[in-house]
Amino acid sequence: MSNIGFIGLGIMGNAMSKNLLKAGHSLVAYDIVPELLDRVVAAGAARGESCSDTAARSEIVITMLPDGPEVEQAVLGPGGVLEGARPGSILADMSSISPLVAQKAGAACAAKGVRFLDAPVSGGEPKAIDGTLAIMVGGDDATFQEMLPIFQKMGSSVTLTGAVGAGNVTKLANQIIVACNIAAMGEALVLATRAGLDPEVVFNAIKGGLAGSTVLNAKAPMVIGRNFKPGFRIKLHQKDLRNALLAAESMKVALPLTSSVQQMLMALINEGKGDLDHSAIVTFIEGMAGIEVKRPQSAGA
Ligand code: NAD
Repeated sequence: MSNIGFIGLGIMGNAMSKNLLKAGHSLVAYDIVPELLDRVVAAGAARGESCSDTAARSEIVITMLPDGPEVEQAVLGPGGVLEGARPGSILADMSSISPLVAQKAGAACAAKGVRFLDAPVSGGEPKAIDGTLAIMVGGDDATFQEMLPIFQKMGSSVTLTGAVGAGNVTKLANQIIVACNIAAMGEALVLATRAGLDPEVVFNAIKGGLAGSTVLNAKAPMVIGRNFKPGFRIKLHQKDLRNALLAAESMKVALPLTSSVQQMLMALINEGKGDLDHSAIVTFIEGMAGIEVKRPQSAGA
């Protein structure tokens, strides 16, 4: 089996790298935070000294970093992956970043003979731990087929969606649908509450119809129960919608709903709510109405 370098061992990378170790892969791991690296070394990985050292000791490198600037630094910057990577090796960036940055990294890799895939994920920490992430991949088919058995150790759904950048376009499409759904749910529940209805009764009445969705089923109970423990943080979703708007601008596409929700997320970050679950988008709509979505006293619970 190929040696795999794994760079970025935060919430997602910690769980994903451990699934590769459990599957018997030999791993060189690296993170700029030593305590995070220690956890994965304790689970059996070799200790990388830098991004370039990790790449030099691997045939396949996986990165799982916060956003585009970190990917540019870790891949293209001094001491980065491309300083160490061997021609013919593969770099799979699984971070959620702008498709434009993915294409820039892909072109820089190609210039050095390194094959590149962008492969962001959906599913969050629970699915990262279970190895059941949805993985959306951009790149060429031959490289995809080579990486597929490795992706399948981390995810239960792995789809090639197009050329380099397509993985992140698909991820942004996912994030637009989720964010706009949460905001629409927030408006609906605020209206129902102001009308004196029990939001839980309204949720139960509509969840089986056309308005029903995975987002509604996951997030309405959190809002009604006033539980905004993340899940997926407001600040990460704001980053994703910013990347969607930047990509859309470069293609001259207007995204008015995405733009509105991105502004709500920015306002919530400024209110100190960046680390709450993204279901807390509803609190922005509640603020404009001066009302909180909750069950009437008489409804109990
Ligand atoms: P995180 O912040 O927990 O982890 C990122 C790690 O990258 C950190 O440990 C950080 O120290 C490390 N890092 C940053 N710069 C580095 C560098 N130059 N060299 C080496 N390491 C570096 O983030 P996360 O929650 O694990 O998310 C990672 C990516 O996955 C993000 O793009 C996020 O949007 C995406 N994602 C997250 C979730 C989720 O629920 N957390 C779900 C789906 C997708």
